[in-house]
Amino acid sequence: MMATLTSREDDYSKWYNELVIKADLAENSGVKGCMVIKPYGFAIWEKMQKQLDQMFKDTGHENAYFPLFIPKSYLSKEADHVEGFAKECAVVTHYRLKNAPDGSGVIVDPDAKLEEELIVRPTSETIIWNTYKNWVKSHRDLPILINQWANVVRWEMRTRLFLRTSEFLWQEGHTAHATKEEAVEEAKKMQGVYADFVENFMGVPVIKGTKSPAERFAGAEDTYTIEAMMQDGKALQAGTSHFLGQNFAKAFDVKYQSKEGKQELVWATSWGVSTRLIGALIMTHSDDHGLVLPPNIAPIQIVIVPIHRTEEQLEEISNLANDLKKQLNQLGISVKFDDRTEYKPGWKFNEYELKGVPVRIAIGPKDLENKQVEIARRDTLEKHSHPIEGLVDHLKNLLNQIQENLYLKARNHRDSLITKVDSYEEFKTALKEKGGFISAHWDGSMEVEEKIKAETKATIRCIPLNAPEEEGICIYSGNPSKKRVLFAIAY
Ligand code: AMP
Repeated sequence: MMATLTSREDDYSKWYNELVIKADLAENSGVKGCMVIKPYGFAIWEKMQKQLDQMFKDTGHENAYFPLFIPKSYLSKEADHVEGFAKECAVVTHYRLKNAPDGSGVIVDPDAKLEEELIVRPTSETIIWNTYKNWVKSHRDLPILINQWANVVRWEMRTRLFLRTSEFLWQEGHTAHATKEEAVEEAKKMQGVYADFVENFMGVPVIKGTKSPAERFAGAEDTYTIEAMMQDGKALQAGTSHFLGQNFAKAFDVKYQSKEGKQELVWATSWGVSTRLIGALIMTHSDDHGLVLPPNIAPIQIVIVPIHRTEEQLEEISNLANDLKKQLNQLGISVKFDDRTEYKPGWKFNEYELKGVPVRIAIGPKDLENKQVEIARRDTLEKHSHPIEGLVDHLKNLLNQIQENLYLKARNHRDSLITKVDSYEEFKTALKEKGGFISAHWDGSMEVEEKIKAETKATIRCIPLNAPEEEGICIYSGNPSKKRVLFAIAY
C-alpha cells in the first residue's frame, strides 16, 4: 500500500510538501532554495506554457531571448529597481577556477576577476531596455511586443517548492509604446489574459486589482495583479502586469522621433507569471488523497486501468481500451492505458488518485460482458458505470463538467473567505479566526499599511478593480477612505 498523506486539517504545510514529493512533481535539490522539477511536474508546466504562449501570440506578441547575465551598471541605472532587487541578487565576480596549490581541490582563481561584476537576472528590464535603445529610432519602430521564456534568480531566504524558490521558471513580457494610454492598455490587457488563463484553464478564481505603493514592483508606476485564495486562508499573488511609465526609457535613454519630428521618451510595460502557478494549482484543488487536476491542465486527462486474470482477458480489454484511446485522442483528449502487469490495479488506482488524473476508467471481464466500463471522477471521488455505446461523448462532457465543478467549488470556497469589516478589532478577529481576504477601508497611506503589516502580518493584496466607490473611514487611522481594499496574509 502507498503511504498516505498528512491531512490538510492536521498540518496544511506538511500536506503540501508531502503532496509535491509523492505526486512526483518536484523535489529539493543539492542547491539550497532551488528545486528539481520532475517529469510529471514539468508536463504540467509545459501545458501551461503552451496555452499561455498561444494567448500571448493571439494578442500580438513574439518570443525572443536575452542574456542570463546583467552587468551591475545596468541594474543600477533605475534607482527604485535596483533598490528593490539589490537584497536578493546573485553576483558573478570571477570567470575561472584553478587547482589549489595545496592540492585540496579547486579554488576561485584570484587572477580571473571580472572587471565588472555580472548579476544573474532577477528580471530582465535593464538588459532589455539597454537593447531596445538600439531598436527604437522612430515612431514606426513602435510598439515592441516581446515575451521571453526564461529562468530568473532571486535569492529568497524562505523558500517553498513552486511557491517561492531562488531560481524559478517564468515568462516575462516587455513592451515599448509611443503613448502612455497604449502602455496602460497593454498592462491591463495582460492582466486580463492572466486572469482568463488562471480561471479558465487552471480553474483558480482570482481577484483583479492594483497593488498599493508598498507592494508595487520596483520601478513600476502601477502594478496590476491577480490574487488567488488558497484552501488554508492564505492569499497567493498569481501574476503581475506592470505599467512602468517612462522610468526605464529615462534610465536607458530610449527615445523615438514622433510624427511631428519631436524626440519623445518611450512608455513601457512588463508582465510575468512563474512556476508558482503550479503551487496555486495544488493549493486550490487538491485534497487529502493527493493532487486534483482540472482537465484543461492535466498531462493525462483519462487513465484506463485493465482488471484481468488471464492473458485473453487482457487482450480483449486492450482492444477496447486502444480503440477508446484512439477516438479520444482524435478529440484532443490525452489518455493513458496503463497495461503494466508488474503493478496491481489497486496500486494503480492509488497512484493516479495521488497524481490527480481527472478521470479513471476501469475495465474488467464483467464490464466486457455487460458492454460497459466503470468510471471514477477524481474531483468528487464518485464512481458510475457507463455503456460502451456513447462513451466518448460522455467522457468529453464529463471532463467539461469536472473543469466547471472545480472552478465553482474553488470560487465558493474563496467567496466564503472574504470578510467585510469596519473596525480594527473586527479585522484582527477575522484574520485570526478565519484568515482569507479581509475587505476594509484604508486611508491610502503607506504608514498605516506598514503598521497593520507589523502588527498582524497581513498586507494589502490589492485594491480590487471592481470595488465600488464607498464613503468610509480607515479601520486603523479613522481618516476618510473612498474604497475598500483586500488585506490578507500571503504566501
Ligand atoms: P514580479 O516580476 O516580481 O512581478 O514577479 C512576477 C511573478 O513571478 C509574480 O507575480 C509571482 O507570481 C512570481 N514570483 C515572484 N517571485 C517568485 C519566486 N521567488 N518563486 C516563484 N515565483 C515567483
